[in-house]
Amino acid sequence: MPTPVWKYTENYTGGREGTVVDRIVIHYIVGTLAAADATFADPASGVSAHYGIGEGALHQYVSEMNTAWHAGNWSMNLRGIGIEHSADADRAPDAFTYDTSIELCARICADYGLDPQTQIIPHSSVVPTACPGTVSLQRIRDGVSALL
Ligand SMILES: [Zn+2]
Repeated sequence: MPTPVWKYTENYTGGREGTVVDRIVIHYIVGTLAAADATFADPASGVSAHYGIGEGALHQYVSEMNTAWHAGNWSMNLRGIGIEHSADADRAPDAFTYDTSIELCARICADYGLDPQTQIIPHSSVVPTACPGTVSLQRIRDGVSALL
């Protein structure tokens, strides 16, 4: 897994109001990683995530200690770590994006004591949304389970 490269956002809340992290929320960008970088760098967008993966890169926008604005639900933002994946409705993530996501999720599951099969969740389980679209949640869950 590459070392995360920090990218700017001011779209987050400091701390987690004492909430313990117990979910990883999987998203797709509907675009490339560069599109996520641009959206999160824009204060007017009002959205962010902790990590984004795509085009051979891993970006970090928000510290895991802080609350990113990705789930469309405040309590899930407080308890979740959000990961964006480069993909579109007609373009699934590439092998690099899956492999990096699996390694990152495995590290997070190990750090926080999470069960990949139940605590890595799709954005669509939080609010009505097409996200994470073409991202295979089961591929990520099973990849993480194989690593742990
Ligand atoms: Zn999403």
